[in-house]
Amino acid sequence: YAKKQGRNTIRLYSSTIEALTQNHLKMEVLMRKALHENEFTLHYQPQFRADTEEVCGIEALIRWNSKELGMIAPDRLIPIAEETGLIVPIGRWVLEEACKQLKVWERNGFPVVPISVNLSLRQFFQSDLCEMIEKVIEDTGIQPKYLTLEITETIAMQEEMAIGVLDRLKRLGIKIAMDDFGTGYSSLKYLQSFSIDHVKIDKAFTNRLNSKEGRAIISTIIALGHNLDMKVVAEGVETPDQVSALRELGCDIFQGYYFSRPVPAKELESKVFYQYRQ
Ligand code: C2E
Ligand code: MG
Ligand code: MG
Ligand code: MG
Repeated sequence: YAKKQGRNTIRLYSSTIEALTQNHLKMEVLMRKALHENEFTLHYQPQFRADTEEVCGIEALIRWNSKELGMIAPDRLIPIAEETGLIVPIGRWVLEEACKQLKVWERNGFPVVPISVNLSLRQFFQSDLCEMIEKVIEDTGIQPKYLTLEITETIAMQEEMAIGVLDRLKRLGIKIAMDDFGTGYSSLKYLQSFSIDHVKIDKAFTNRLNSKEGRAIISTIIALGHNLDMKVVAEGVETPDQVSALRELGCDIFQGYYFSRPVPAKELESKVFYQYRQ
């Protein structure tokens, strides 16, 4: 009986693997095509200063509306892009597109605030990551101080490599943000060995602001960030109660649906930027 059961289990297992592989292959093919046929777009989510509520940054987030598959969320797209290596050309496209958009806003008299682009671990293993970034900055003509790269704790864990790359990017004048702080392998060593400008409190913590423990964690991250001369950004801010609680705790920057969802560039102009037009 056990043998029979075992065999069935194996059969089920291998057909699952097969299905997954098929699915990955299909996604890979469609993603390559998407790059060439411009199916990727960027949405932009503004960040606001806690004190004045002025826009002080914009995060660029990838969107994929596939002809064959419909909308694919980044949480599905990015892991497959990482596995297949497609994150390298996709990541370059995201950076170029975000920098070009920043230039367009600047030319059209919109406020110039730093734009944030997410970097994934695999991109750090590209030997020419720094050259690629330098080239995009040069080609698009943005000032490096208006570019923020969001990294995660998994990147920071690759210490030897990360320190070299981040030092070089910092020397160019680029800013670095530690994304999703507190969800990964949060070592204090990482926060202090790289010159990080912003620490972003993950939305899972923002969500727990109504509990005493949740508030304690956030206030600790804020104190840590400030003691290390960083600005602290809260992600996933959805309610006015969260805004006032975060303000009381000394958080510097807010990002979340309460202020704005990530939106296409045009919508950001009409809904957010118009108030600041110079
Ligand atoms: P992230 O970098 O932490 O980005 C924040 C995510 O939280 C975004 O999800 C955003 O839409 C969402 N969000 C913002 N405000 C709120 C809120 O108030 N409530 C809730 N529930 N969610 C909020 P999105 O756009 O689905 O992206 C998910 C993740 O995918 C990102 O997390 C990032 O890790 C990754 N990602 C997105 N675009 C790129 C990209 O161009 N390159 C790379 N490497 N990763 C990307
Ligand atoms: Mg991010
Ligand atoms: Mg995040
Ligand atoms: Mg995230």
